[in-house]
Amino acid sequence: MPNTTSPVIFDGHNDVLLKLYNAGGLPATEGFLSGRDGAIDSISAEAGGFGGGFFAVYVPSPSDMDHKMKEMAKSAYDLPLPDPIQYLDAIPVVLAQAAILFDLEKRGALTICRTAADIRLALKSGKMAAIFHIEGAEAIDPDLNTLEVLYQAGLRSIGPVWSRPTVFGQGVPFRFPSTPDIGEGLTEHGVRLIKRCDELGIMVDLSHLNEAGFWDVAQYSTKPLVATHSNAHAICPHSRNLTDKQLAAIKETDGMVGLNFAAAFLRDDGKMLADVPLEQMLRHLDHLIAHVGEDRVGMGSDYDGAVVPQDLTSCADLPKLRQAMKKHGYDDALMAKLCHENWLRVLTKTWGE
Ligand code: ZN
Repeated sequence: MPNTTSPVIFDGHNDVLLKLYNAGGLPATEGFLSGRDGAIDSISAEAGGFGGGFFAVYVPSPSDMDHKMKEMAKSAYDLPLPDPIQYLDAIPVVLAQAAILFDLEKRGALTICRTAADIRLALKSGKMAAIFHIEGAEAIDPDLNTLEVLYQAGLRSIGPVWSRPTVFGQGVPFRFPSTPDIGEGLTEHGVRLIKRCDELGIMVDLSHLNEAGFWDVAQYSTKPLVATHSNAHAICPHSRNLTDKQLAAIKETDGMVGLNFAAAFLRDDGKMLADVPLEQMLRHLDHLIAHVGEDRVGMGSDYDGAVVPQDLTSCADLPKLRQAMKKHGYDDALMAKLCHENWLRVLTKTWGE
């Protein structure tokens, strides 16, 4: 029997902290260890060879998620962005979700990794490796004091925006079909945020930025350009996906793209519907590899945050994806790169250790 849980998958994005927060916060963390109704927990991870990844802390808007998913099941859509969220409203939510992450570590479910060496060690020992990531910088004040404190607490990755505007920049609305070139670029505060992240060793995630913001980061950052969970715009012309020109810039800076499993960013028709064959993911992988190179592509599942292909609903299903990739002709060396090695490579480069 081939070992279908290897190579272990280290992944660019999940929203399990939000799900645990919505399920009641700290009392809900037990379900992560004993099994829960969702995409990621200790038991599914063991079954599927899921080694961890970027754990997003995200402040939800009061909008109705079901309504959003329904709208995105249509053949064309343009969802209005929710209102901005104020710093004082964002801070308690970010602290609550960070506390969930710390609690998971205390219970032995995962290790919060601050260096690439930490991740390598965790993966080797079979412990889930977690990066403390913030998706949308509403909880960061323009003076960046919160950034300093959260860095000390283990924060190693940040998206200046989740599609909602922040004091740092603007994101892409969920629009299909659409170019990602919607709205203005980073603000002055945004440029300062990028520069300080570079100095501290916090990775900047481009996935929800609009195109102008993307090029601003390219201009002001000295680090590899990384989109943790985005796909190929040439295949699925969604505002959230990356054009070939953006992919060329990612390649040039030796950056990275994580393949997003969300149906709406995979399908040619942009619909958030789960009947997506795994071959569609391979089409994106082939395109990304052709444009950024085989050292700069990995996974970015969006697990617990999106409608994903029906064959991959939880991380226990990841062996099916590995099988499809192998059948497609990816050899052992490429499999290791796509499953985790490339993330380790780009994080070593970005964090410096
Ligand atoms: Zn996202």
